[in-house]
Amino acid sequence: MCFTKDRDQAHGQAESLLNKYSPSAIVFIEKVGANIKGEYHTMKGLNVSKNHAKIDILALKAIERSIAVIGIGDGGNEVGMGVLEDVVRRKVPYGNECTCPCKGGIACHTPCSSLIVSTTSNWGTYILIAGLSIIAKKVSTTLT
Ligand SMILES: [Zn+2]
Repeated sequence: MCFTKDRDQAHGQAESLLNKYSPSAIVFIEKVGANIKGEYHTMKGLNVSKNHAKIDILALKAIERSIAVIGIGDGGNEVGMGVLEDVVRRKVPYGNECTCPCKGGIACHTPCSSLIVSTTSNWGTYILIAGLSIIAKKVSTTLT
């Protein structure tokens, strides 16, 4: 499913998706989110706003509706990392100052209700899936 790159259209599309699917949770995996100035960046501090889906609007709308938003990230510029924005600004290269004219840094401003930080986002996702599988009793919890 595509999501718009237009910030104004993103609000309507997010509302439409939430109304249509009524999710109990949404998971954002390694998805770049906007910084405090509404700009999107790579880990190298490059601005990719022009070509990036404004999907973090979906996270904000979901939080407004008390829908669980799980963010999985590894660098600090991903949706959900807003809960650690101050840490990203202090500890991550380009966290506080990007290389584009916005100078807002790569630190994502969009929060989440549960954040998984991992060395590689895929690994964090594996942990989430493993945990859910255990809860759903799809895998054995005993070692043999
Ligand atoms: Zn910037």
